[in-house]
Amino acid sequence: MTGAAIIGLLEPPGRIASGEIRLEGERIDNLPYAKMRRIRGKRIGAIFQDPLTTLNPLYTIGRQLVETMQTHLPLSDAEARKRAIGWLEQVGIPAAAQRIDAYPHEFSGGMRQRVVIALALCAEPQLVVADEPTTALDVSIQAQIIALLKRLAREQRTAIMLVTHDMGVIAETADRVAVMYAGRIVEIGPVRHVVRHAQHPYTAGLMASIPPLDRKVERLAQIDGSMPRLNAVPTGCAFNPRCPKVFDRCRVERPELMLAGETNAACWLYARPGAAA
Ligand code: SF4
Repeated sequence: MTGAAIIGLLEPPGRIASGEIRLEGERIDNLPYAKMRRIRGKRIGAIFQDPLTTLNPLYTIGRQLVETMQTHLPLSDAEARKRAIGWLEQVGIPAAAQRIDAYPHEFSGGMRQRVVIALALCAEPQLVVADEPTTALDVSIQAQIIALLKRLAREQRTAIMLVTHDMGVIAETADRVAVMYAGRIVEIGPVRHVVRHAQHPYTAGLMASIPPLDRKVERLAQIDGSMPRLNAVPTGCAFNPRCPKVFDRCRVERPELMLAGETNAACWLYARPGAAA
């Protein structure tokens, strides 16, 4: 939902009720449709879970890459085709010069997601929103796709906003991580601090539920209860019915993000001077 809001693709009745979205300091959430359309694709790319939602089954891979580039960059047909082949090579499509004229259904799921990555990056955007880009793929392919995304983002100097439930991917890939609960950020900070020294009880619960590799445990820790429905979020801190550290204030007042160790956490534990997690 947050990713869709950033790229201006929230489906009605969804809407941005408050807050601002800024791209390199410039506010973009209040732009007219036509202006936002120019930003989408050119300055912000997107990668969705299922590559088939991005690719048009009726057009060849090459046509889709060429059209995307020519919409946003001043390239002749020949130049765009040459670049499209280059992009297919960069994302690891074998025999790119021949496969450029193939249709999406002629590619495997992993190869299709590589093409989607090429499509998201080919207009040289500043930001790519990648929504669970490996969920629909075979486990053996997932690591390859994440490694590819990471390498290309570094080479192209593109920021990636990676939306994922996979803590392993987060730990290996991200610089900064924002943990969300019931639609709000509950902890945000450098990945090494959030992963190793989680401050918010929800983040701490998530981290404790990951099986350790260096010792055997009988049972993994679990967070009791379940995520609230978004139309029935508890008053005060949304996590309060499940929180092992809940106290009175948590049930009445909603905490905003506040400094908590090396991260920021939305938790009343950090409003008390000298409190520890
Ligand atoms: S504000 Fe209270 S209920 Fe919410 S996470 Fe912190 S301690 Fe737990």
